[in-house]
Amino acid sequence: MDLPPNNNLDAYWMPFTANRQFKAHPRMFVSAEGMYFKTSDGRDVLDGIAGLWCCNAGHKRPRIIEAVKNQVEELDYSPAFQMGHHKAFDLADRLARLMPGDLNHVFFTNSGSESVETALKMAIAYHRARGEGHRTRLIGREKGYHGVNFGGMSVGGMPANRKMFGSLVSGVDHLRHTHGIAGNEYSRGEPEHGAELADDLERLCQLHDPSTIAAVIVEPVAGSAGVIMPPKGYLKRLREICTKHGILLIFDEVITGFGRLGTPFAVNYFGVQPDLVTTAKGLTNGVVPMGAVFASDTIHDAFMTGPENMIEFFHGYTYSANPMACATALAALDTYEEEGLFTRGADLGDYWADAMHGLRGAPYVKDIRTMGLIAAIELDPIEGAPTKRAFNAFLKAYDKGLLIRTTGDIIALSPPLIIEKSHIDMAVETVRRVLEEIE
Ligand code: PMP
Repeated sequence: MDLPPNNNLDAYWMPFTANRQFKAHPRMFVSAEGMYFKTSDGRDVLDGIAGLWCCNAGHKRPRIIEAVKNQVEELDYSPAFQMGHHKAFDLADRLARLMPGDLNHVFFTNSGSESVETALKMAIAYHRARGEGHRTRLIGREKGYHGVNFGGMSVGGMPANRKMFGSLVSGVDHLRHTHGIAGNEYSRGEPEHGAELADDLERLCQLHDPSTIAAVIVEPVAGSAGVIMPPKGYLKRLREICTKHGILLIFDEVITGFGRLGTPFAVNYFGVQPDLVTTAKGLTNGVVPMGAVFASDTIHDAFMTGPENMIEFFHGYTYSANPMACATALAALDTYEEEGLFTRGADLGDYWADAMHGLRGAPYVKDIRTMGLIAAIELDPIEGAPTKRAFNAFLKAYDKGLLIRTTGDIIALSPPLIIEKSHIDMAVETVRRVLEEIE
C-alpha cells in the first residue's frame, strides 16, 4: 500500500471523498506535466478532467512556473484592504477586456464558492443601494452546483450536498432542472427541446411576487450535478424574463470560463449577457487558488455613491487579489492566448464529439452529451446502488491510466485544452474497455 512518509493516513480529512475507501486503497499523485499525472508507483495517468475542471493549459507550464517564482521574490503579499498593487489592476483590466459586454468590473476572491457568495451578496446589496431593499429572494435551479458555502449550497440543487446541513439560507427557491428531457438524448451542442422550462421563472415570480426577487443564478452548463447542457434558447428566455421583472441574472462560469466551450466564456458561446459572472478554476490554470466576479457597469456604479472616503461594499477576503494569484492568472492568460487555447474546444469540437458519441452502444451507456471539450457519459445505475457503477468505472479507469470524474452515474470528461487527437482516442478506448470490464 502506498503510504505517505509519516505513515499516517488518518489526520487528513479529505474533502468530497469516501475517506475510508480511499484510505484502504490510496491513490497518490507525485508530479504532473502536460496532459499527464505521475502516480507514486510510477505510472502515467492521462488527465481527462483538467484536474478538477481547472488546469486548462495542462500541467507544469513554464510561464506559470516562472511567474510564481518571480512574484514570491518580488512581492509575496500585499494587504487586500485599502492598499493595491499593479498586478491586481492589470489582471482586472485584462479580464474585463476579455469578457463581452459591460461586465467591466472585477472583484477577486479565492475560489468558486467565494465568487458565488460574493455575487449573491452583491446582487442583494445592489438592489438595496437603489432603494429596492425588498428584493432579497434568490433563485437557483434543481441540480445546480454553486459551491459549498451557505449561500451557494442554498441556491444549489444537489440533494446530497444539502441534506446534512439543516434549513440553509431562507428566501431561496429553485427552477426546474433541464436534465433527461425526451428527445434530447445523445446531444451535440445545445439540445433541441426544453427552452420553455425557462418559463418556470414566471411561476416563481407569480408565487413570490417578482419585486421580492434579487437574482437568478444558473450554470450555463451544469457541471457537478451531471453535465447538463442548456436547451436551445433556454438561457435567452431566462434573460428576457429577468429583464422584464428587474431581476439580476448571474451566470456561474466556474467551469465554463476560460475556454471550456471553445470560446473564452459561456457568455460568448450562448450570446446571452448576464449581469454578474462568477469564475475561478481556469483563471489561474488551477495553480493558485483564485476566483473573480465580473459585475456590469450598472451594478458597479450603483455602489459608487455617497461620501468618497466611505467603503462602498462591506465585503472582501484577506487573500483577495493576492499577488501570487494575480501573477499566476496573468501568466495563465498569456499561455491561453499564445497557444490559442480558447478556440481549441471549437477546433477540436467535431473530433471530440465524434469520438465520445462513438461510445454509444457500449455496455450500460444510456446517454452521451457533448459541448466544447466537455462530455458526459451517462450510465444505467446498478439497481439499488446508485453511483456505484460510475464509481467502479472511475477506479478501473485510474488503474488503466485515465483520470475521469463521476457524479451520480455520469462520467464527466473535460480535459486540458492542450489535448491532442491521440489523447482523445486513448481516453475513449480506455472508457470503452472500462465499461466492458465493470459490472
Ligand atoms: N460553481 C461551480 C459551477 C462549480 O463547478 C464549482 C466547483 N466545481 C464551484 C462553484 C465551487 O468552486 P470551488 O470548489 O472553487 O469553491
